[in-house]
Amino acid sequence: MHILEQRFLRGPNIHAATPCILSVLDLDDLYGVSTRDLPHFNDALLDLLPSLADYLVPTGQPGGFAQRLREGTYLARAIEHVTLGLQCLAGAPAAFGRTRPVTGSPGQYRIVCAYLLEKVAQPAFALAVDIVDALAHGRPFDLAPRLDELRALADHYAVDANTAAVLVAAHERNIPVQRITEDANLFQLGWGVKQKRIQATLTGDTATIAVRIAGDRQLTRRLLDEAGIPVAAGEAVATADEAQRVARNLGTPVTVKPLDAEQADGVTVACRTDAEIEQAYAHARKFGRQVVVARHVEGEQYRVLVAGRKVVEAALSRSADGAGDDVTDLLPESTRRLCVRAAAKIGLDVAGIDIVCRDIAVPLADQGGAIVGVSAAPGIGASRAAGDAIIDGLMGGSDGRIPLIACTGTNGKTTTTLLMAHAVRLAGRVMGVTSTHGVTIAGKEVTKGDCTGYWSARTVLASPDVEFAILETARGGILKRGLAFDRCDIGMVLNVSPDHLGLDGVDTIEDLAQVKAVVPLSASRAVVLNAEDPLCVAMARRVHPDVEIVYFSMEADNPVLLRHLEEGGRAVYFQDNSIVVADATYHQELLRVEAMPIAFGGRARYNIANGLAATAALMAAGMSNLQIATGLSTFVSDGKTNPLRTNVFDVRGLTVIVDYAHNPAAYAALAEMARSLLPGQLVGIVTAPGDRRDEDLLEVGRVCAGRFDELVVYESSSRGRAYGGAVDLILQGAEDVVGKTDTLHRELDAGAAIRLGLSLCRRGDVLVFACGTSLDVFVEAIRA
Ligand code: ATP
Ligand code: MG
Ligand code: MG
Repeated sequence: MHILEQRFLRGPNIHAATPCILSVLDLDDLYGVSTRDLPHFNDALLDLLPSLADYLVPTGQPGGFAQRLREGTYLARAIEHVTLGLQCLAGAPAAFGRTRPVTGSPGQYRIVCAYLLEKVAQPAFALAVDIVDALAHGRPFDLAPRLDELRALADHYAVDANTAAVLVAAHERNIPVQRITEDANLFQLGWGVKQKRIQATLTGDTATIAVRIAGDRQLTRRLLDEAGIPVAAGEAVATADEAQRVARNLGTPVTVKPLDAEQADGVTVACRTDAEIEQAYAHARKFGRQVVVARHVEGEQYRVLVAGRKVVEAALSRSADGAGDDVTDLLPESTRRLCVRAAAKIGLDVAGIDIVCRDIAVPLADQGGAIVGVSAAPGIGASRAAGDAIIDGLMGGSDGRIPLIACTGTNGKTTTTLLMAHAVRLAGRVMGVTSTHGVTIAGKEVTKGDCTGYWSARTVLASPDVEFAILETARGGILKRGLAFDRCDIGMVLNVSPDHLGLDGVDTIEDLAQVKAVVPLSASRAVVLNAEDPLCVAMARRVHPDVEIVYFSMEADNPVLLRHLEEGGRAVYFQDNSIVVADATYHQELLRVEAMPIAFGGRARYNIANGLAATAALMAAGMSNLQIATGLSTFVSDGKTNPLRTNVFDVRGLTVIVDYAHNPAAYAALAEMARSLLPGQLVGIVTAPGDRRDEDLLEVGRVCAGRFDELVVYESSSRGRAYGGAVDLILQGAEDVVGKTDTLHRELDAGAAIRLGLSLCRRGDVLVFACGTSLDVFVEAIRA
């Protein structure tokens, strides 16, 4: 057996709404072997991992897995269950798993297992493979040392109790949580401008200067004293003599401790004689360069936790066992106020206040009690109340989310995304946008290139200035890493048509729809769907009933749309050259398409459809009709704002359209638009990437041949095919439709293809150049 490929799906994905590790495994010689065929395998496995029989219940009953083994299952499935079982034993429990054969590759399986800790998932899987491989070949397996290693890893990467308590509170408040690094308990809570960070009880709002002050016992004492808070009088000293002199001034007994308050050690209480003080001084010096001598306060020490400007809890401190007796309810109002003021005076949002007094139920002033220290980043154990108070103080009741629209579909994502971003930007919001062009934050491009996947989305959501995120979310990224967000507000699917089939385990258009459905299934507020696309419509049934569905359609009488309106839903459609927004009772013309530049006077029907989808999403996001109409009427798709998306040029009187079309649906849409521009001939210079299936390339040829009067086919990206291979298939498809005619041209080089295309044009014709790379090729060829 060997692992061919492995990766983490970090967010919602086609298998689950939670993170999973995906492994592609080749069973090699164990292919076709069932657990039933291996005489000792089942017993040996359950001997090694008895817990598997108990808590892995794929059939829904206890003992389900043991039964599955007896009945016979293939070894890839056994590995899935062992991986989950091992993670549970290691202390990083995960329950979801799925195993499927890889189509067309006998012996290969895609195994998906949920995980809690990324750093444990991979070794757990590797261990599962080793175990199953050994047992299936009749070899014994020494599990103990390997399991110890796995447990040690789980321990190392586990979230500490303090941080976990804060995260529980965050989860309960629906705040998105992102671990910033696996190696530290550092987390991002929320997104964009609303994000905060925490690390245990240290928050992004904890001021460094306050932490420094709290680290200096003498300075803390002075500041509290200045605020009128009862403290133990004292002074910093540099020699034993000085310590004795200060003690005499203060009056004994005194407490001697290191100045550095982070040193819990080195403290001696109730020193009376010079000898005792000298000894205590020497002891304190071992822990800090400077030493504080303070009046000894009689009584017990208590730790009061302040967060969110209130006292959360108070407990008796015991140095021995740490966990003190809870005295929260005993605290008088005056003591609570003092603690809150002490934290505020030092400048800490979360603080541990140490009090010494005889009776915690009595006001400090009445008993000579005092605040003897203030700690930044206090330990809270697993206290839920503390976690709640820290989160409430930090997030102020916000869930930390910014509006988030995620847009997917086979065609039109980039155009729709940029159109929406343009409208929202005009409405005054600071935008974070991902698209095939790059990542844009606050109107500035921060990354160039195809940015429609996980990391780009994360870049936007982690940007501290972003108020509103619009994310083009493509198939590739969803398959590769999952979504970068647990939920979006609005999930859009523009259309599902054949493209990228046969790649990454997506073999049919239904599979492709499953991938795209991850976006609407993650939506919490609204889902925007194409009413004309049955695969989109089918997604509606799977969307949570609390999530609004907004349909769009180019046909005013689309039956799905009409029924949706009758049932009280909202929709956007195209009628009499206008974009109409509608609900059950009210239909309003938003904009005539003549006023929408990307509609090209109504000729670019696909861009009208994209405009409808954008309208639906912006309406669901709460934008006003005026804001939406303003956006639609001012967004231009030219070589600068949206390169290669219907960029129309006038080249010495010849109309040229440069566009990114590369699949059948896009070519059909583009040719229709181009044809409607002028009555002349339509000349196409087309291509498609080589990683598409043969039948898809043939289909590109068929679609283009029927629509262009002259067709030049050139090579753009071979991607695994022989140079020119894709071109030949496109031409073959074209010949299926128009036969072998002299209107079909093979010209592999892009520049030469453009020159040939230009030579085929007469005044009044339209030339379409399908371009996957950049406008430069075109500009160069035109110059020449
Ligand atoms: P990609 O998957 O390559 O990122 P995309 O979904 O982002 O593509 P766009 O870049 O907006 O799509 O559009 C690419 C081309 O697809 C357009 O220039 C046009 O030819 C065609 N197209 C755009 N919108 C649609 C649509 N709604 N239906 C069909 N074709 C479309
Ligand atoms: Mg695409
Ligand atoms: Mg795109």
